Amino acid sequence: MNNSSFKLNDNTSIPAIGFGVFQIPNDGSTYASVLKALEIGYRHIDTAVAYFNESEVGKAIQDSGISRDDIWITSKMWLQDYAYEDAKKAIDLSLKKLQTGYIDLYLIHQPYGKVDEAWKAMEEAKSEGKIRSIGVSNMTPKIWRKWENSFTIMPAVNQVEFNPYFQQKELRKIMSENNVTLEAWAPLGQGNQELLNEPILKNLAKKYAKNVGQIILRFEYQEGIIVFPKTVHSERMISNLNIFDFALTSDEMDSIRMLDKNKGMHDPDASGTKEMLLNAFDVHADDK
Ligand code: NDP
Repeated sequence: MNNSSFKLNDNTSIPAIGFGVFQIPNDGSTYASVLKALEIGYRHIDTAVAYFNESEVGKAIQDSGISRDDIWITSKMWLQDYAYEDAKKAIDLSLKKLQTGYIDLYLIHQPYGKVDEAWKAMEEAKSEGKIRSIGVSNMTPKIWRKWENSFTIMPAVNQVEFNPYFQQKELRKIMSENNVTLEAWAPLGQGNQELLNEPILKNLAKKYAKNVGQIILRFEYQEGIIVFPKTVHSERMISNLNIFDFALTSDEMDSIRMLDKNKGMHDPDASGTKEMLLNAFDVHADDK
């Protein structure tokens, strides 16, 4: 059972490992996966408006029989909704789809457009008790500096791409100065085979009788980073959660730190990113 957690800057405790549902379809698969993950012991689900599966997450939580207060739910606002009035509506719609009176953590999913207006709506929703913690995502050092003055409440987290190939050293320094916790998306490199076959990681897996995924997730946990690996396979759900019965030594941590290439799959600073993302996901396509 995983009951390890991290304390955020607003004093809430978030389970250190969650279950991510990006790219799990809303054809019943998200419902089945979340139900299975909860049964296995996950108590933290990471979804988003732009994953189009909040309703299935909400239904699985309802049907799990587990008390709502024992489950951490994260969701994220998408780009079409950042104008202040739209942002307020988006939060209420997420609450409705998730069938819950409050969301534990809500994020600004992508840092473009009217981020300041969306943030204001999120700060208000927090004070109204609709959201417990608020945070941002995909903020690079450059983007963070652009927006930091609009935060009356400091974001609790910044959810960014992170794995042994992309360790975000510069960003982590800025986040730690502000007491903002890093959350990793693609903690397993989205299944990158080169990463999963790194000799250093394979040797450690052998030493601890674990698999490479567990070595990576344990490394991230020891770095103080929140993870929520995605899988539709129950054996992987079990193994990804099972990282609390061993510890990497400081030399082993250093050897994994050496794998950093300081480059990810996605560059939020690249020109045209906002348009690319807006075109890729229209969360109001069905309203039209
Ligand atoms: P992950 O790094 O979690 O990798 C998921 C992939 O790895 C899937 O293809 C899965 O395959 C495979 N996998 C899972 N476990 C293992 C294992 N133990 N060994 C080998 N392969 C494995 O990538 P994600 O992009 O899904 O990131 C995790 C979560 O982060 C997302 O689900 C989402 O919640 C969040 N996210 C947030 C973003 C943002 O912009 N804020 C962007 C992207 C993700 P299979 O399912 O077949 O097992």
